[in-house]
Amino acid sequence: MATTAMGMYLGWLRDAHAMEKQALIQIDSQIPRVGDYPEMKVRLRQHRTETEAQLQEIERLLQRHDTSASMLKDVASSVMAGSQALGGMFMSDVPVKAAQMSFTFENYEIAIYRTLIVAAEICGDTAAMPVLKRILEEEMAMADWLADHLEQVTRQFLQNADATASVT
Ligand code: MG
Ligand code: FE
Repeated sequence: MATTAMGMYLGWLRDAHAMEKQALIQIDSQIPRVGDYPEMKVRLRQHRTETEAQLQEIERLLQRHDTSASMLKDVASSVMAGSQALGGMFMSDVPVKAAQMSFTFENYEIAIYRTLIVAAEICGDTAAMPVLKRILEEEMAMADWLADHLEQVTRQFLQNADATASVT
């Protein structure tokens, strides 16, 4: 059974909705894990607010096509995100792992929105394009910020590790 371009596009929009739900779970699991890095906490909180707005915007785009987000898919993704969030909980290098995971997730989102912008263009959903482009910019800004701070967190973490090791 063939799927039209519009069918593909709407499926990808639903995937994006599930992804943003997963993003919220992920961010909520990161915030308490970056204790010694207050700048990271502030940036994560800011991106949480952006993510909540993105979720609502994707929902609105879907509603305009008389499509709602697939609940089943969303629930399945949320469960998966929950188990990913728990991984690494007992490791001592938690702040570094959290920064790596956030950076990976933002780049995944960038790939998804780049795809959606092209699909919206091909399907003639011109109203969606500025919305998707603005979301892409937010994800890129977050990925850039994390790229810088992944290095900073790693440096600080390793220096602390040596300082702690030398006094014990
Ligand atoms: Mg997002
Ligand atoms: Fe994001």
